[in-house]
Amino acid sequence: MKYEFNITKTTSPKEKPNPDTLEFGTLFTDHMFVMNYTEGKGWHDGRIVPYGPVTLEPAAAVFHYAQEMFEGLKAYKSKEGDILLFRPDKNAERTNRTNERMCIPLIDEELYVEAIKALVHVDSDWIPQKEGTSLYIRPFIIASEPFLGVRASREYLFMIILSPVGPYYKGGLAPTKIFVEDEYVRATPGGTGFAKIGGNYAAGLKSQEKAHDKGYSQVLWLDGAERKYVEEIGTSNAFFVIDNEIITAPLEGTILPGITRDSVIQLLKSWGMKVSERRITIEDVFKAYEEGKLSEVFASGTAAVISPVGELCWKDRKITIHDNQIGTLSQKIYDTLSGIQLGKLEDPFGWTV
Ligand code: PMP
Repeated sequence: MKYEFNITKTTSPKEKPNPDTLEFGTLFTDHMFVMNYTEGKGWHDGRIVPYGPVTLEPAAAVFHYAQEMFEGLKAYKSKEGDILLFRPDKNAERTNRTNERMCIPLIDEELYVEAIKALVHVDSDWIPQKEGTSLYIRPFIIASEPFLGVRASREYLFMIILSPVGPYYKGGLAPTKIFVEDEYVRATPGGTGFAKIGGNYAAGLKSQEKAHDKGYSQVLWLDGAERKYVEEIGTSNAFFVIDNEIITAPLEGTILPGITRDSVIQLLKSWGMKVSERRITIEDVFKAYEEGKLSEVFASGTAAVISPVGELCWKDRKITIHDNQIGTLSQKIYDTLSGIQLGKLEDPFGWTV
């Protein structure tokens, strides 16, 4: 192996959870990956250690100016017992695009993927095998230099933690109710919408709480400049099927370039379907509904893979999509993608590692 990581195993392994009652993101495995960055030295001392608290000075830059980033992907165990990752190189690539925007030093992408593989290997007994479960992988970087001043930190910590998870939505693939946010915005041109940073999510909590209070599971964000164009849904990308054209917002800096989004687009194109990465207004989505042309709306993301949308509420207008049933296209994409991820279906794209 090109990269050697020092491994310190835990002396008190935890009990593995019951796969039937797994929730999302509440339990963590026995080990974690840690690597330091020091100015002048670069990234160094990549190591696997027992999972546990991190000690930081209260002055650490991340606590004050939020210079940090994170990623998310999953490991699966196939029926044959093979450990499968889904396009981890894409997470490494996206990490560096985020880092570049956040003035965080770039990381060797090969090392990044090797670190994920090494950690997942150490905790491979934690990968649940029950249908709908997986091992969620959370790489993240924080600015750790104790310094109060607005400039890029000179020290960082790169860490990876693992969490055995059940379905993201309690209802599984059941259609969700989505609230179209027309008050708060998530991203603006020139901002950080395309970067995977905590600040984007903290700024969205208010809206999410509002949607929850109204009985909706997530928000559909509109563009931050005019609040006209549809952007993304919570922690996923949004697709609208209108008149046999599948439309999703373009990557123009305000939405997260989802790896599931990219996979869905490639899959649909390989099926000969018309996919457009273009702007579409919420007004046009509602108009298409009224004309009977809006056949499906779905969200795509690592956590839920595909999540059909059953209801959209925009201002005082509510529409029920596809009779609040799982659309045939949503189901087909879900079955294909999760089949590839689990090693059940052939992988013509070479996505699984
Ligand atoms: N948009 C946002 C805001 C997200 O947090 C996520 C989840 N990473 C996505 C889209 C979907 O991205 P991916 O398919 O890479 O999980």
